Amino acid sequence: MELKEEQFRLIKKQLRRLTTQDGFYATKFEGIDIDSIQTQSDFEQLPFTMKSDLRDADPLGLQAVPDEDIVRIHSSSGTTGTPVIIPYTKKDVDDWAVMFARCYEMAGINKRDRIQITPGYGLWTAGIGFQLGAEKLGAMAIPMGPGNTDKQLKMMMDMRSTVLCATSSYALLLAEEIAKRGIADNICLKKGVIGSERWGEKMRRRISSELGIKLYDIYGLTEIYGPGIGISCDYDEGMHMWEDYVYCEIVDPVTGKNLPDGEVGELVITTLTKEGAPLIRYRTHDLTRLIPGECKCGSKHPRIDIITGRTDDMTKVKGVNIFPGQIDDLLSSIDGVSSEYQVMIDHINGKDAMLLSVECEPEIDKEMLQTIIKSRFKSKIGISITVEAVNIGGLPRSEKKSMRIIDKRY
Ligand code: ZN
Repeated sequence: MELKEEQFRLIKKQLRRLTTQDGFYATKFEGIDIDSIQTQSDFEQLPFTMKSDLRDADPLGLQAVPDEDIVRIHSSSGTTGTPVIIPYTKKDVDDWAVMFARCYEMAGINKRDRIQITPGYGLWTAGIGFQLGAEKLGAMAIPMGPGNTDKQLKMMMDMRSTVLCATSSYALLLAEEIAKRGIADNICLKKGVIGSERWGEKMRRRISSELGIKLYDIYGLTEIYGPGIGISCDYDEGMHMWEDYVYCEIVDPVTGKNLPDGEVGELVITTLTKEGAPLIRYRTHDLTRLIPGECKCGSKHPRIDIITGRTDDMTKVKGVNIFPGQIDDLLSSIDGVSSEYQVMIDHINGKDAMLLSVECEPEIDKEMLQTIIKSRFKSKIGISITVEAVNIGGLPRSEKKSMRIIDKRY
């Protein structure tokens, strides 16, 4: 993605500020002459900021303004060890609200809407972000927080909520509950704004048709404001990222080299105006691609694709990066295949070999199916593999999704 002149100006301004005062980036970029960064490729030589950098810093080690300017902190959920603390200035909070209100507008939501917010409130950035955006927009926020389905549904009917903000799994649960109770006629929902966890097309269609609403994917992460830095539009072809606040790059997760637009890799984000805890070339671990060209909706804000997975789940076979999300997507597009599969990777006669075992409906012609999957794999992911189709129930079940890929090479 081309780094625009205004973005470059904001980045340089920020780099100067961060390296001329004590703090995280003064140490990290020690010895780097900021004035020598003249082009996009110079910028692409700067070291990445990793989640581990944030974890290793003191709780407020990233803070880049005096204490009196900090108005709030948030913290990432910390599924892997120490949580990361992110301090916000008044301007950061305001900017976040502006971005979030823009997200609602992109989804066609306006001040007459009633927005039922089911993500959690607290240290986490989710609920409060949805709330900030709703208030900035001038809509009515209904700050439910998670759980208590009875109360959610009662409120949804009593308040005639028109917008549901939720994770995909909670949206599905509510949709099923509404169907089960036969109360669909009393529900006024028109739109759903769904947090950007990875979710399949099948689930999306189910939520959308059960509730009769249009769904939008919202993107964000606690380290960079929170949800609301990007959202999908009516055309559902990726999420627009607010280019006046964040600059996005896609890099090869293994080599760290920048990839051309359209290729899948790791999303790297640089904040352009953040004060409390700016981040330069922050590796999100999210796998996606920049979508080339302009969107049919006319917005100039660049788009990233729906998140395909996390780099932590990735593996490299025959020189090609493969992640479970790609395999999920590929298999979900083939009729007669169940969602269960297993991958075995080995090193045989000096070469990587991959065996993909999939479960299928018993009446399916297995040989034919194997040929189809093999050729789709070759054309979509780029390597030749061996495919084995077995009847449903033929593969071992595991709680852990990672057990789907068994790597015998190491
Ligand atoms: Zn668009």
